[in-house]
Amino acid sequence: MTKIHHINCGTLEVDGYPTVVCHCLLIQDHSVLALVDTGIGLNDIRNPVERLGQSLIEQAGFRFREHDTAVKRTESLGLNPADVKHIILTHCDPDHVGGLADFPNAEVHLSEEELNHSKSGNPRYVMTMFEHGPKWRTHAPSSRTWFGLEARPISLNFESEILLIPLFGHTLGHCGVAVRKPDGGWLLHVGDAYYLRAELTEEHHPVSAFAAMRADDDTRRLRSLKELRRLHYEHSDEIELFGYHDLSELPNGLDRKMPS
Ligand SMILES: [Zn+2]
Repeated sequence: MTKIHHINCGTLEVDGYPTVVCHCLLIQDHSVLALVDTGIGLNDIRNPVERLGQSLIEQAGFRFREHDTAVKRTESLGLNPADVKHIILTHCDPDHVGGLADFPNAEVHLSEEELNHSKSGNPRYVMTMFEHGPKWRTHAPSSRTWFGLEARPISLNFESEILLIPLFGHTLGHCGVAVRKPDGGWLLHVGDAYYLRAELTEEHHPVSAFAAMRADDDTRRLRSLKELRRLHYEHSDEIELFGYHDLSELPNGLDRKMPS
């Protein structure tokens, strides 16, 4: 049976704003593990300025705590980080890919569009994150649909099906990740297609100005958000939606049991 763990792999704190997190999934299928997004990594903690640059650290409010990494979260679940054979990325922003280098042998799945976009010279991407040479596995457009959205199957031979769901706009290849739950129904990790859950129900949430500023294509971002609102209103009995950054959606909260 596939087990799905919700783990926090990074905490971001900026004065005057709510604390946000890096909500990743660790999917366990027998002895094989797959991560959805990677949060910050051990290299970010050891050499933060070299990896991310001082201005990004201050702007995003990165907190560098070793227990807030995918490696340490995996170990704390009694699992072996060497068993992480697959990583599925929503997109390549630095707060999502910092942990990539901690799993250099994993296959890294993402949309074809996102890999192309990450190589386009767009300054939002931090190229030091990719210097170790990730084993990219790109997923091209597909004719399959899922609740009215395009779906790109990721074949990992897991008991639970996993799909990349294009939710473009935040970046030009940004996707959500749908995972079939063992007890029926679906999880949809929406990545940064919304920052805060309140955006699902509030048409003009204050965070939308920031989301618009960070979007590479704001028209498409708004279209993706509209689709998520549709799923929320029409299919909430079948799909559990959550995003990467909203602390309230993380089942264990900040989980500060481990020393920081
Ligand atoms: Zn993000």
